[in-house]
Amino acid sequence: MLQVSIVVPCFNENEVIGAFHTALVTTLEPTGQTFEICYVDDGSEDRTGQRLRELAGNDPRVRYTSFSRNFGKEAAMLAGLRMSRGGAVVLMDADLQHPPELVPRMLELHRHGYHQVVAQRDRAGEGVLRTGLSRLYYRLVRRCMDVQVVDGAGDFRLLSRHAVNSVLALPESNRFSKGIFSWIGFETVSFTYRNVQRAAGTSKWGGRNLLNYGIDGLLSFNSRPLRLAIHTGLWLFLSALLYAFWIIANVALNGVDAPGFTTLMTAIVALSGIQLATLGVIGEYVGRIYHEAKRRPHYVVRETDESRASVRGRPSATSVGQARSEG
Ligand code: UDP
Ligand code: MG
Repeated sequence: MLQVSIVVPCFNENEVIGAFHTALVTTLEPTGQTFEICYVDDGSEDRTGQRLRELAGNDPRVRYTSFSRNFGKEAAMLAGLRMSRGGAVVLMDADLQHPPELVPRMLELHRHGYHQVVAQRDRAGEGVLRTGLSRLYYRLVRRCMDVQVVDGAGDFRLLSRHAVNSVLALPESNRFSKGIFSWIGFETVSFTYRNVQRAAGTSKWGGRNLLNYGIDGLLSFNSRPLRLAIHTGLWLFLSALLYAFWIIANVALNGVDAPGFTTLMTAIVALSGIQLATLGVIGEYVGRIYHEAKRRPHYVVRETDESRASVRGRPSATSVGQARSEG
């Protein structure tokens, strides 16, 4: 059986993909294990797709899937995991921010019986603001989430076949990998490596995307924000009750006293704010339910190495239906 699969989502990585591939192959070959590399072209607009086709043409250990448009890294990772056939699967980025030299170490730890091996980066070389915000986010999330997510523990990890099958068994369309990996459990080990800057090309994550990713993470893994809304409502109700008693007592003791415009305005504004926010939270969940209810596939495949092989006249196991859309 094939021992190792490397899954690499790529979006506009034309500039680094060649260097990445060379580095990866040179570290994998000395390990003496049989391996395959599963590239997923996430609808790149540059020549990434063409590069992958060439790589697959030159080396039978390389396989690829191309999406019809950009579906996002989560979808690309899912497609890669579905493609993979190895006993151990390593997920990594194409931009050399996940150093290939660490893969043999991960495989070694896997041989010691760990089902998940996480390479956790530190935050060396990152802006102070971003580091601070991330720290704050993780501290917040740890309280509001049912699963544990760890700062710096991203998608650079090894999963055993068993773990991959468990990940693939989860049917949700809103996929938040960090949560999913933590949710499936299994024996996990992690080690830290020094953060590296991307080798070439640009990051696809701006501040806005990160914020949305953060909200996604918070919401997609539990219903605690709804619980928070209930708690806030109860506390507000209690304080309103106390305040009402206080007013009544005041009127009884000191006679009728009409002013209170400021209090009234403050209360109205604060309450409407809280109501709107709560409505937003509920709306998010309803939106998610709507999204899940549509049961759309996670991505649409334009082409794979196998579909191309069959186009050239070799019959292949991949039927058109399977190659076209997997859900
Ligand atoms: N990626 C992807 N689809 C996207 C965005 C990113 O497949 O829509 C891939 C990208 O090619 C890279 C990895 O995900 O291999 C991480 O992306 P990036 O380096 O831009 O993120 P960062 O390292 O800045 O968090
Ligand atoms: Mg990167």
